[in-house]
Amino acid sequence: MREVTCRSLGHDCGWKQVARTEELLMDVVAIHLRDVHGVPALTQEMVGAIKQAFNNAEPIEVSTGDAEPGLKAASCKDLGFDCGFRYIAQTGELIADGIAMHAREAHGIMEFSQEMAARVKSMAQDWKG
Ligand SMILES: [Zn+2]
Ligand SMILES: [Zn+2]
Repeated sequence: MREVTCRSLGHDCGWKQVARTEELLMDVVAIHLRDVHGVPALTQEMVGAIKQAFNNAEPIEVSTGDAEPGLKAASCKDLGFDCGFRYIAQTGELIADGIAMHAREAHGIMEFSQEMAARVKSMAQDWKG
């Protein structure tokens, strides 16, 4: 697992993503850039920057038990906002974190309640590229 931040791609943004492979990261970053920054498609330059960011990131240990977890996704809509934001991560906890950060920045939700976190976790669906 390696963690890449949107900031390392040149955006003033607190978003970050943990990914096992460059390919997975590429997909998730492409979606983030599209949904949040209005970037319609990755350019060759961005692909290069993402690869570089991935390779420069320190490998981190994520204890996942025996099975390799798939990615899950939940969206801001699940919380009742009319909003296209979607967050993709390995676990419900990571997704709840990502959506909490988004809810604060985009919707001014300063207190992300236990109920909201539980709701996001329960709404998280397996994500198939
Ligand atoms: Zn960003
Ligand atoms: Zn939203």
